[in-house]
Amino acid sequence: MALVCVMGGGPAGSIFAIRMAELGHEVELIESARFPRPHLGESLSPGVVPLLESLGAEGALAGARPVRQVEVAWDGPPLIRADVRAEGRLVDRGTFDRRLIDHARGLGVRIRQPARIIERRQDERGFRLTIETEAGREERAADFLADARGRAAAGAWRRATTGPLTLALHAYWKGTGPPTHPVIQAGDEAWYWAVPLPDGTSNLQVFVDARQFGAAPKAALAARYLDLLDHSGFRRGLRQSEVMASDATPYVARSAATSSSIGLGEAALALDPLSSSGVQKAIQTSLAGAIVANTLIRRPAWAAAAMDFYTASLEEASTRHRSWAAGYYAEAARTRPASFWQDRAAAAPDEIPRAAVVSTDAAGAAAQPVELSRDLVIEDLPCIEGEFVTLAKALRHPGLAGPVAFLGGQPLAPLVNDLSSGATLVEIAQGWSRRMPFKSALSIAIWLRNSGILVDRGGVLP
Ligand SMILES: Cc1cc2nc3c(=O)[nH]c(=O)nc-3n(C[C@H](O)[C@H](O)[C@H](O)COP(=O)(O)OP(=O)(O)OC[C@H]3O[C@@H](n4cnc5c(N)ncnc54)[C@H](O)[C@@H]3O)c2cc1C
Repeated sequence: MALVCVMGGGPAGSIFAIRMAELGHEVELIESARFPRPHLGESLSPGVVPLLESLGAEGALAGARPVRQVEVAWDGPPLIRADVRAEGRLVDRGTFDRRLIDHARGLGVRIRQPARIIERRQDERGFRLTIETEAGREERAADFLADARGRAAAGAWRRATTGPLTLALHAYWKGTGPPTHPVIQAGDEAWYWAVPLPDGTSNLQVFVDARQFGAAPKAALAARYLDLLDHSGFRRGLRQSEVMASDATPYVARSAATSSSIGLGEAALALDPLSSSGVQKAIQTSLAGAIVANTLIRRPAWAAAAMDFYTASLEEASTRHRSWAAGYYAEAARTRPASFWQDRAAAAPDEIPRAAVVSTDAAGAAAQPVELSRDLVIEDLPCIEGEFVTLAKALRHPGLAGPVAFLGGQPLAPLVNDLSSGATLVEIAQGWSRRMPFKSALSIAIWLRNSGILVDRGGVLP
């Protein structure tokens, strides 16, 4: 049984520890802070609930406030966006993170808290760690090291920034002023975010250009924060904490796994806080990271595929989110000339070229004979199968944003290999209907046609 050591007990560290314990590893988690403690990331996106449910860890959300509506003043007058399903949650991160650690403890994970690794050495037998606790120093051995120290892990993994340098100025407020639902608001050279918490306080955050404020002394940052809040129109109530400044610049690790270590959550990937999905993404990277770590430990022959898979999945998540955030900033930038907005709106990566996109419906599928596009390539793609990373055959084509191995749970390569040139979409679907319902087969055939992977026989797509 491999001894896995996890540094950091935020959502990424706890979820990774939970999954690794479930996969049969001996896990020790080392968290430097005493919990509960306040932490940014208090507004959880809707995807967090099903992820926690899938781990049986939904108890961590007890006492959380459901998000029923959000007030948005972005590219026009304030709008109330109602969420009838109320799937987002507002949490006290001190309590939430502590409950996740408790869940890990219940699965046999050894928790050292407060404790910190102050030295680590690696030799052919694994890692030798020196841990400092309140009781003194201890020596430890570990076969595998997971880094879930959040932004504090700066320097451990090669990170590339993926958006403009951003600073969050924030403080906790109480009283009649702060709102009862989240508020997002665009200012001239900043954006504002009010997050009301279960205990009746609100975290009022202001996001500014770090190049303008980063070097300012603490008192000047606090004065600027209060000044910006005055301009925002937020009614604030009474301040309950000092004004804090946190880096909010998005980044992605160029590579976040070696054969015996992995970077998880915000140690490896930070999203623009605009989407409030950092915790969800931290959980997702940890679930994928656990499969990658399990493969590295138990199937070392597959190490290269596992590391490639992890790097590609972080990169893909970063690119997709960056593009989304830039589009959202662009809406506010239409009426705001300041570089704060223009820089953020311009951060979108180039659109992935889509070579051949046509629209085919079932009726049009009956008559036209089709064949495979000459641009189709079938290649090995690392992907998750059960508890390991393996290689699957995937389709790559200029009409796809990236390689695709499965559609609706069906492996695509064997379907494509089975095609006879000149058949119509309906005939193709009939041929596949031994393996799946005809309706699913026809949907896949139409998807292939709409992606440009199937083209009209003897011709090219318009
Ligand atoms: C301004 C701002 C607002 C945000 N708002 C949201 C939001 O509303 N919703 C959302 O989903 N996300 C939000 N995020 C992102 C969110 O905070 C992170 O995505 C999330 O906390 C990442 O979880 P994590 O477990 O990777 O890291 P963290 O939650 O940062 O946990 C890291 C843990 O490691 C511990 N640690 C650090 N160093 C050591 C060490 N040497 N040894 C042992 N332990 C150590 C720390 O004490 C900490 O407990 C926001 C981020 C910013 C900057």
